[in-house]
Amino acid sequence: MLLANLESRIKKVQERLNKENLDGFLVTRFENKRYLTNFSGSTSWVIVTQSKCLILVDGRYTVQAEEESPSLIERVQISDYLDGFPKELPSVLHQLKIKRLGIEAHQMTLLESRRIEEEAGGIILVSTTGWIEGLRIKKTEDEIQKLKAAISTAEEAYQKGIEAVQSGVEEIMIAHEILSFLSRKGLKTAFDTIAASGERSAMPHGRPTNRKIQMGDIVVIDMGAVWEGYYSDITRTVCLGKPSDEAKNIFALLQKAQEAAYKAIRPGVIAKDVDWAARKVIQDAGFGDYFSHGLGHGIGLEVHEAPSIRKTGDQVLEAGMVITVEPGVYIPGKFGMRLEDDVLVTESGCQVLTSLPHILEI
Ligand code: ZN
Ligand code: ZN
Repeated sequence: MLLANLESRIKKVQERLNKENLDGFLVTRFENKRYLTNFSGSTSWVIVTQSKCLILVDGRYTVQAEEESPSLIERVQISDYLDGFPKELPSVLHQLKIKRLGIEAHQMTLLESRRIEEEAGGIILVSTTGWIEGLRIKKTEDEIQKLKAAISTAEEAYQKGIEAVQSGVEEIMIAHEILSFLSRKGLKTAFDTIAASGERSAMPHGRPTNRKIQMGDIVVIDMGAVWEGYYSDITRTVCLGKPSDEAKNIFALLQKAQEAAYKAIRPGVIAKDVDWAARKVIQDAGFGDYFSHGLGHGIGLEVHEAPSIRKTGDQVLEAGMVITVEPGVYIPGKFGMRLEDDVLVTESGCQVLTSLPHILEI
């Protein structure tokens, strides 16, 4: 499965090289290197040519590269670095007879590109953006399984976090419980857990503080887990004790907005139309000004990746994309609420992958 996936991904890059008349492509973005080689170490250089794929690693990663990357990926040992630049890179590029080299312009630094031009004289660097990201947008069955595992693990971790929501407990304890549950499993959180209570919940990305949760508080928890490199992203909003009618109404409104988005999601729909389907529900209820961000984003090897589901999102959705649907209403000085679920675009519409129930009152 892994080998077939890597083969097909590399082949797609090679087809692109052919089309763009390039002899090689230097991949420097971490997630893109991992996507093509399965290597998860932090330092490597990946080159795709018309006929092969190479990974350059130093002695710290030799064994790991052997374990993670099948022999389809040719390994080159880096003996030393010059200003953070592999000593072997210029000679490898020459051996591969690369004249026109595609680079990831959104990732490579100006210094790095200058170094290649200086060290490997005669090579023409051609800027590209989003090539591999464009391939990553549609998930294979294997990737969907990993995303599902990231989601179910995050849901278990959330249960630990929610147990900390009690009168007198500090917000940071929610994040702490989630982090410690995941680290006991040898896993990482997808990002620093957001946990904001009371008036602070009106900040869409409120960092947990020492604030003590009180009875009647609204609490927003946004969290996720990483499973074999794949990220989940889930938000739940709860009320400790009896919620006000206003809170109940807004909570129901967010569910209605999500349902409207789910009805709109199917192959062929444009991202902005999905955003609008949910946004219209919130706007019609008079809270449009309080929904201050896009409806969602793709998840995969990164927690925020294409497609972007927002007012100006022009990506056409296709089966196999996995996106978040996360409407929110934030009323400054009062409270904020958000619900975020992870959704797979299917041939016939969509499938919600998160199964954590929406429970307001705890
Ligand atoms: Zn989130
Ligand atoms: Zn999100």
